[in-house]
Amino acid sequence: MGLLDGHRAIVTGGGSGIGRATCMRMAREGAAVAVLDLDGDAAEVVAKEIDGHAFQVDVSQGDELARTVEQAAQAMGGLSVMFNNAGVGSFSALHQYALEEWDRVVRVNLYGVFHGIRAAAPLMLAGGDGRIVNTSSISGTRPAAGEAPYSAAKAGIAALTASAALEYGPVIRVNAVAPGLIRTALTDPMFQGLPDHVDHVVGLTPVGRAGEPEDIADVVVFLCSDLARFLTGQNLVVDGGLTLHTSGVDGIFDRIRTLLPDP
Ligand code: NAP
Repeated sequence: MGLLDGHRAIVTGGGSGIGRATCMRMAREGAAVAVLDLDGDAAEVVAKEIDGHAFQVDVSQGDELARTVEQAAQAMGGLSVMFNNAGVGSFSALHQYALEEWDRVVRVNLYGVFHGIRAAAPLMLAGGDGRIVNTSSISGTRPAAGEAPYSAAKAGIAALTASAALEYGPVIRVNAVAPGLIRTALTDPMFQGLPDHVDHVVGLTPVGRAGEPEDIADVVVFLCSDLARFLTGQNLVVDGGLTLHTSGVDGIFDRIRTLLPDP
């Protein structure tokens, strides 16, 4: 028996990285899956592997996404799971952000989730069951310099998730997953171009490695399953412990204990 037996799931950004791994895991757990992506060919490849449905769509376009969600639900015979995961990154100084770039980042990351919830909720309410997960980021809780629209959009997703959970319970549970550093196409330039930075981050991560897409996929499946039946409105950080750092005394114990006699 699978954790998602009988469920009908849509995954945005399902053609790559975290979305792709989640499509695979959801299918293994018994769900019918519709793979939605800006890259229609990538969606096709994933859908073929899991006997699912593929749709090309831009999540920043509300009407287009609503039509596609409707089509996907029709193809699967309903909709009970929605993973609003598509996202894009960007770096620039805050005062130098071109307005179009700021707009693009917020429209894909934040509006994309809003459009996804708006499209999915009526179908789930009509069907009497829904589980929505949105992909935020540790950048939303611990922003870095240079990623203002991304961080703001991801922080917005946490608030949007809480609002949606309040509005749609008890029929629909709504949660967010906030990944740490995960090895995907999005972060590949960092893994390739700044390996010393990756080593630094891994050194700060208690579990001792960077994340893989499957690390997030497993948590998303958990959140969508009945195992998480009493969990809603949360923004769950999945970062191997990376963001536990930065209290004022962080690291001081390692220095003090070198000065102490052995017990
Ligand atoms: P990824 O491998 O680049 O996957 C993202 C997918 O979303 C790509 O297939 C991309 O298509 C698609 N996409 C982009 N814009 C879209 C749009 N407007 N409409 C529909 N699909 C669109 O990256 P990922 O790391 O798996 O990212 C998934 C989510 O995790 C994102 O929301 C990201 O912000 C979040 N996240 C990632 C990390 C990390 O370390 N990787 C950390 C925190 C949060 P194209 O390839 O055609 O652009």
